[in-house]
Amino acid sequence: MQWNILGHETAIKFLKNHVQFGNTRHAYLITGPEGIGRETLALAFAKTLNCQNPPAPGEFCGICLACRQIDELRYPDLMVLRVGEGSKDLKIDQIREMQQTLALAPYQSPYRIVLVPDFQHATIGASNALLKSLEEPPSKALLILTADAKESLLETISSRCEVLRLRPSSIETLEQYLVDEKGLNSARAKRLAHLAGGRVGTALTFDQSQDLLDAYDEVLNDLGDLLNSRLRERLQYVERLQKAKSSPREQAVFLISTWLTFWRDVMIRHENAEIPLVNIEHEIHISETAHLIPSRQIEQLLKDHEKALVDLDANLNPRLVIENLLLRLPLLMVA
Ligand SMILES: [Zn+2]
Repeated sequence: MQWNILGHETAIKFLKNHVQFGNTRHAYLITGPEGIGRETLALAFAKTLNCQNPPAPGEFCGICLACRQIDELRYPDLMVLRVGEGSKDLKIDQIREMQQTLALAPYQSPYRIVLVPDFQHATIGASNALLKSLEEPPSKALLILTADAKESLLETISSRCEVLRLRPSSIETLEQYLVDEKGLNSARAKRLAHLAGGRVGTALTFDQSQDLLDAYDEVLNDLGDLLNSRLRERLQYVERLQKAKSSPREQAVFLISTWLTFWRDVMIRHENAEIPLVNIEHEIHISETAHLIPSRQIEQLLKDHEKALVDLDANLNPRLVIENLLLRLPLLMVA
């Protein structure tokens, strides 16, 4: 079986090479935005290292016990260490516990593999604890970290890893992949490829969750209404949100980051930039808005939305953050 991953050819070639020539490193760092396929790549690498019946050097079969157990994350020599539920950080205790496991000999395979997704969420203490494993790696250990960017980690960590940087596919490539490999109709494939900005995992998440897609659309439609509403209606909107949602902070982050994609699209259209829109379904509304607002104001709105997300992350009251943002929205009154 080929690795069957969309894009990332350079990274795949590189990893296959390490397996084929017995040249694996102790630590890898796979970087790129969420939904781009960092974990999928890490697991394909793990399968290649452990497949019981590889069809060719550097490939995996996808059906042997090892391959299936890795896919299901229950392979005895693979540990996945994530941020604990309800927590925002990867903690030092988690790293220490993992290190005890890592020091043991593998049960059945040449390596004991530990995958730590999103290491940018590690506390400083956890990062420093991990350094020990990187400086004096146990002999049969293989550590795979993922992160949004190399720069989000301590330099002492990233410099000790083999870094693989993943980039999104082009919109057209992803669109074609969704039609050919996932059987989507072309309209849906186009829409999701744009929405995901070329990140295959994000496109598939949207495809598998109609609720999420509907919520996304609703939020953009709400924004259209709010741009045509006066202050009183805007505050009533926040009031309604407050009643409807169980987790106000999460809802606020979703709301504002979705609106941010709209304003980025408005800016792209305003500047006639050769960049694909995220919200291709809302193209008409985006173009109309782009005609009505000067670029200086669009820039300011982008900044306001980005700041709002920072404020939410800093635990400011979600209701106040949204109200503040709505006060700054222009009043368009499009018919
Ligand atoms: Zn296999």
